[in-house]
Amino acid sequence: MAKYTDGKCRLCRREGIRLYLKGERCYTDKCAIERKGYIPGEHGRDRRRVRETPYGLQLREKQKARRIYGILERQFRNYFAKAERRKGVTGEILLQMLETRLDNIIYRLGIVTSRPAARQLVRHGHVEVNGRRVDIPSFQVRIGDVVRVREKSRRLVVVKESVQNRRRTEMQTWLDFDDKKLEGRLNQIPSREDIPVPIQEQLIVELYSK
Ligand code: SF4
Repeated sequence: MAKYTDGKCRLCRREGIRLYLKGERCYTDKCAIERKGYIPGEHGRDRRRVRETPYGLQLREKQKARRIYGILERQFRNYFAKAERRKGVTGEILLQMLETRLDNIIYRLGIVTSRPAARQLVRHGHVEVNGRRVDIPSFQVRIGDVVRVREKSRRLVVVKESVQNRRRTEMQTWLDFDDKKLEGRLNQIPSREDIPVPIQEQLIVELYSK
């Protein structure tokens, strides 16, 4: 499967915001946004002054969303196509689908400190949904599903440290979490107000609707 292998901090610098792709480091002053808050590349400092066109703004929102959730272009388009077929506000449905991916739920529960780490945890078979091992990060979690770290994986250092520092990850009202069992439950599909991502989803809808 294709995957993005370039430096994660470059992605944040390109979007001009913290995307929280590196876990603990993102909360310190070692964050590249603090140290080098300009677009990467030879002419990055100059490009900061260029005003984006309407198309450029739409493109940036889409890229930002892809990068936050760690999704490649084709898969992102598939999400959009599915969201468009459903009844309701397409942009909101798109975000709801992204938020209820298994890797994102693991991140939101605070079991690990970044979405890339959550994806790795899932891929390596450390996660169960309703008692069955699931190693597909894009697995869609449904209302009532119980997500937990498998018994034998609970001693992993990355999990232990992250759960101890959970205060940093804003716990979502649409999720329940039992930190003794390392188990969470999806209570409801989050509304747009419940999804704390700095994305103007309407611009993505406009981009793909051309
Ligand atoms: Fe982004 Fe984290 Fe790197 Fe900061 S440390 S630039 S938030 S990946």
